[in-house]
Amino acid sequence: MPPARITVEADGRLNVPDVPIIPFIRGDGIGVDIWPAAQAVLDAAVAKHAKRIEWLPVLAGQQAFDEVGTWLPEQTVTSFRDHVVGIKGPLTTPIGGGFRSLNVALRQLLDLYVCLRPVRWFRGVPSPVKRPDKVDMVIFRENIEDVYAGFELEEGTDGAKRLIEFLHGEYGWDIRADSGLGLKPVSVTGSKRLVRAALHYAVSHGRRSVTLVHKGNIQKFTEGAFQKWGYELVRDEFADVAVSWDDCGGKPGERVLVKDTIADIFLQQVLTRPDEFDVIATTNLNGDYASDALAAQVGGIGIAPGGNINYVTGHGVFEATHGTAPKYAGQDKVNPGSLLLSGVLMLEHLGWQAAADDVVRALEATIGEGIVTYDFARLTEGATEVKTSEFASAIVDRL
Ligand code: NAD
Repeated sequence: MPPARITVEADGRLNVPDVPIIPFIRGDGIGVDIWPAAQAVLDAAVAKHAKRIEWLPVLAGQQAFDEVGTWLPEQTVTSFRDHVVGIKGPLTTPIGGGFRSLNVALRQLLDLYVCLRPVRWFRGVPSPVKRPDKVDMVIFRENIEDVYAGFELEEGTDGAKRLIEFLHGEYGWDIRADSGLGLKPVSVTGSKRLVRAALHYAVSHGRRSVTLVHKGNIQKFTEGAFQKWGYELVRDEFADVAVSWDDCGGKPGERVLVKDTIADIFLQQVLTRPDEFDVIATTNLNGDYASDALAAQVGGIGIAPGGNINYVTGHGVFEATHGTAPKYAGQDKVNPGSLLLSGVLMLEHLGWQAAADDVVRALEATIGEGIVTYDFARLTEGATEVKTSEFASAIVDRL
């Protein structure tokens, strides 16, 4: 079979050839260690199912800057757009460059409105909590709006001064003259498409509940509106398969239960009663905090995967959630789990569920036998510490 591009149906469904061309960014820093490891496992897993991935290297980050003089080359964005699905390692954030963050830029350019962060525990992974096995959540974090939209004015600038004056004149708002300002846009469109994706996921994966996490008690017209629009969507589009807590008194029957909680209480409850949470739908900043806090409960950033997805256009960019850990770069030492599990999310997005399941089983078997990289080894008594590449080989052996 010759390699071919993935295409997308009008309804967002993907047509995936047996040998899809998939662009990848190896990533800076430890990208040189974790990318080959993750690729080896993904290649072996799909080969078991008579598939192959034609990997197409594309540049971003420090490597791009060094080789072509720009942090995010136009061809890289075009390549992700044209090939529909891609994957990336961690990128150095240029300091003082034109970009706030390359990751945020890529999400905005491709309108990848969902940040998907599944959080579950794998047997054998060291955790700071007593019952990490009770954590099994899938976070849908809005990825474009909120304070991440990039509408900020620096303190002391003409723009900041003018906006402060305007807000005083127009609304009587007294904002201290030496303030920096940031806007928090939260739209009906952005909120509903995010909650819609979470509900579709919950229904199609047999999940019990969707929790809308917000700060609506304080930020009524952004966070509070997110909650209101979420419930509106349940009634308007999902009445046959989902129901809000208020509409069923907490007894949804066969339907998916939709409830909500305030973000700060949520962060307590995921520690004290994690098994009451399932699919989470939340705004951008809340989602950022919640994803990392939850990741810590099940073993931390070395193993937390992420995907950035537009379910309407089918586009997806899957990524390691940690950074470039420069002090470990090139040492064949760190954990490739985050990038590998992001690859698993990518296989699921392609509809290659069996290969995805194989990787998860083999990873679990490897860690379960105490074969782990340094980050887990130092927290686990009796573990065998292996290099990044050896960890990958051990997973491949167990596929
Ligand atoms: P980092 O995630 O790179 O590293 C923090 C610490 O976490 C490391 O020192 C290491 O102890 C540990 N760690 C990270 N990944 C690990 C792995 N796979 N296995 C084992 N341990 C691991 O965060 P940082 O030091 O704040 O950032 C370094 C660079 O990465 C910066 O340029 C930052 O902007 C960038 N960054 C990129 C992304 C991304 O591309 N998604 C995310 C965060 C930070």
